[in-house]
Amino acid sequence: MKAIQIRATGGPEALELVELPIPQPAPGQVLVRIEAIGVNFIEVYFRRGQYKATLPLTPGSEAAGVVEALGAGVSGFAVGDLVATVGMMGSYAEYALAPATQLVKVPDGLTPEKAAAAMLQGMTAHYLAYSTWPLKKGETALIHAGAGGVGLLLTQIATRIGARVITTVSTQEKAELSREAGASEAILYTQQDFVAEVKRLTGGHGVDVVYDSVGKTTFEGRLNCLRPRGMLALFGGSGGAVPPIDPIQLSTRGSLFLTRPTLAHYIATREELEWRAGDVLKWAADGELKLRAEHVYALEDAARAHADLEDRKTTGKILLEP
Ligand code: NDP
Repeated sequence: MKAIQIRATGGPEALELVELPIPQPAPGQVLVRIEAIGVNFIEVYFRRGQYKATLPLTPGSEAAGVVEALGAGVSGFAVGDLVATVGMMGSYAEYALAPATQLVKVPDGLTPEKAAAAMLQGMTAHYLAYSTWPLKKGETALIHAGAGGVGLLLTQIATRIGARVITTVSTQEKAELSREAGASEAILYTQQDFVAEVKRLTGGHGVDVVYDSVGKTTFEGRLNCLRPRGMLALFGGSGGAVPPIDPIQLSTRGSLFLTRPTLAHYIATREELEWRAGDVLKWAADGELKLRAEHVYALEDAARAHADLEDRKTTGKILLEP
């Protein structure tokens, strides 16, 4: 089978197309013939060596496809089922294994592309809005990188709850997309002082919660956007890692909460996985959650997909097709 492998960490060119044997499912595992692969920023961190992994590595954890074979002891799935997961072991490939506990069935009416586009970023948006800071009607959220994959979905989920959403984006085109997703205001943080803008837009009060996936660039600014006892949910670092922070800063800025959440801890039980995946896939199938998956690359063009993601050229979801 065709697969992408990282033999040495580095730039996008570290993603090489190779031929590998089709893996065989061990007990509890399922072999999936992949139809659509979700690309996520975490694979960039692994490729660069910022996150450590044993090499050679076939990256990727998100995909949708058809069940090809079942390992011993697997129940609840049958050969031919259309399934999706964020727990695949190397999804940048034509076939990959996943623990059965990490798979969900794709509902009728949803294509593999849509399922792969919805799972990881959709469940991330779901846990941020329902669990990390359970948003309430009438609250205001600031979402950074509002036209990104998570950003567009989180904006839709937050506005669906009845919250007001302010976003930051780098270009006019991204601002329009962000507004279409439901943001009431999209601030061009590459041109404007977003802290001053957020203060102005909230009458000096600040927002209830900041959902930040960008990280380093203006970390302190993000704390200054919050109302007293508000929360900064720092869930990514696409702009670089955040330097250490003295906890007293949280006190002096208004008894703030700071958390660094990760999806794995919010889908740790089968019940939570089914809740979040069930909601997200259903909303996607019903058209309630609009998925933007216009960046589709062939598996062999994985390097170009990574380069475009890192160069901030993409909006919404990036998919690879074997
Ligand atoms: P995005 O589609 O949001 O892409 C990244 C965006 O970040 C860019 O489009 C860009 O938007 C913005 N950005 C700002 N500064 C930079 C920079 N220096 N280099 C690159 N991009 C920059 O990606 P995803 O939706 O896949 O992921 C968003 C973030 O969320 C990532 O950091 C990822 O690791 C994290 N994440 C965390 C999860 C968790 O559970 N903790 C789960 C899923 C994702 P703009 O041009 O508008 O600034």
